[in-house]
Amino acid sequence: MHWTVRLEARTSAGEVTTAELVTFSRPGVVSTLAEIGLMLAETKTLLAKLQASMLCGQVAAYAAHHRACVGCGVLQPLKDRRTRRLQTLFGTVEVEAPRFKVCRCRLTTPMAAVTVSPVCALLTARCTPELERVQAELGARTSFRDGVRILEALLPVSPANQESLRSRTHAVALTHSPIGSRARSAAAMAAFLASGLMPLMVQGLMRSSDGWSAWSDIGLPPLADRR
Ligand SMILES: [Zn+2]
Repeated sequence: MHWTVRLEARTSAGEVTTAELVTFSRPGVVSTLAEIGLMLAETKTLLAKLQASMLCGQVAAYAAHHRACVGCGVLQPLKDRRTRRLQTLFGTVEVEAPRFKVCRCRLTTPMAAVTVSPVCALLTARCTPELERVQAELGARTSFRDGVRILEALLPVSPANQESLRSRTHAVALTHSPIGSRARSAAAMAAFLASGLMPLMVQGLMRSSDGWSAWSDIGLPPLADRR
């Protein structure tokens, strides 16, 4: 027996495109309980294909929309085609990142801005904020090794390694907490990371109702007060 998953995308203008994502095959008549239903490996494959299809479609629509000159509305000439890679919870996706020549009506633009790349302007980081949050939360709640194992077991996320989990957990704590933001020097930052407060910080951020901004609500004293 075969199951095929097709994705239908419909634009706001009503244009519809379909793409075949994946086909699962099983014996027509199962013989054990383990053969019933969707398997984890199949789910990860499906999620990865769905993510790639959605993400590439969104990025292509974004590039097409921003190809039009903001001054006169004509399509700006294509200079070249490049690619960018974006890490997500559901896999790393490579997207088209075309560069356009700036329209003639705006030729007074400095030379450095003669070429524009809307996709590069959109992808301001190598990973999505959602991936960053989940990695930071796992890094705060468990060991980095176990965090990687959990991610790898349940999701097609990549890269799933201890270093990325560690660096993103630290980055979140340093960027979004008042204590971390004060640890500007290398020595202060090392002391901050060694203080053992970082997991508490990230957990506090995760529990807050409005995300990172409510970190201060958990009320931990400044690092200096703890020495
Ligand atoms: Zn123009």
